[in-house]
Amino acid sequence: MTAKRIDGKAFAATLRASIADAVTQLNTSHNLTPGLAVILVGEDPASAVYVRNKRKACAEAGIASFETILPASTTQDALLREIARLNADDAVHGILVQLPLPAHIDAQAVINAIDPAKDVDGFHVINAGRLAVGQPGLVPCTPLGCLLLLRDTLGSLAGKHAVILGRSNIVGKPMAQLLLRESCTVTICHSRTEQLSQETRRGDILIAAIGKPEYVRGDWIKPGATVLDVGINRITRDDGSSALVGDVDYKAASARAHAITPVPGGIGPMTIACLLRNTLEAACAIHGIAFTL
Ligand code: NDP
Repeated sequence: MTAKRIDGKAFAATLRASIADAVTQLNTSHNLTPGLAVILVGEDPASAVYVRNKRKACAEAGIASFETILPASTTQDALLREIARLNADDAVHGILVQLPLPAHIDAQAVINAIDPAKDVDGFHVINAGRLAVGQPGLVPCTPLGCLLLLRDTLGSLAGKHAVILGRSNIVGKPMAQLLLRESCTVTICHSRTEQLSQETRRGDILIAAIGKPEYVRGDWIKPGATVLDVGINRITRDDGSSALVGDVDYKAASARAHAITPVPGGIGPMTIACLLRNTLEAACAIHGIAFTL
């Protein structure tokens, strides 16, 4: 069996086109332009690339984007003041603080200073709590992107056994909550899980988010499973060339899975599309407008 390649790039392009249409309609019907503010602290080159990509994606969708670039020496108080300013700015409906932050700043305190209604990353404790208890709220972009791809690939997820590798607050835990909400049976694994391959072989759905290049081997996959590879790892090959790979050995896993996302071109494009989606949703919610997409 050769697995179907789940084309996250194509799915994300379609999603972005519908977001752009919805933004145009919002402009016409309510004279409202959704706005996303991104705060970047320090000069991390990877973060600067992410911020640039977000600006470009916003422009293509008709979403206004605002950027605050602060030096790595910025104090936590100065950053909190900037967040307070953006919380009060009516043109801003989404606020995103690019992570990681310099070590002297308490990232969770900063995230919790964002107005939960503008927390388009879905990392605020209020939005995490809403997700945990099943109330509507803003959902973290990467797990949301995974869910949209799973629904598109499998239809109903009810009763499926989902195995998630990783328990971070930005991927693993919210992913587990979303899949519970879909009535999956969920197993969450982490670095202390024993007999990891026995756990992964039980998954009708396997989601890998551990940040370890090609760690999940082909024979760890349940035959016929759907595999989502969230990991993004840069490796140097024996010939000196460098490549981006996921947490799953794609070739070997493809021989057993029913469907699998590639890296790149799988979950990454969905994350940014869901950020635009969340910004549109936040703008609608703030103005009491029904959100449908
Ligand atoms: P974290 O480092 O925050 O979390 C990694 C998780 O993996 C932890 O829960 C850790 O366990 C677990 N883990 C580490 N090693 C093992 C192992 N050998 N076996 C089982 N579990 C293990 O990472 P993130 O959640 O932020 O990101 C995970 C990956 O996803 C990274 O490669 C990141 O680049 C990528 N990513 C991709 C995105 C995209 O858009 N495609 C978006 C966000 C992240 P423990 O808790 O015990 O330490």
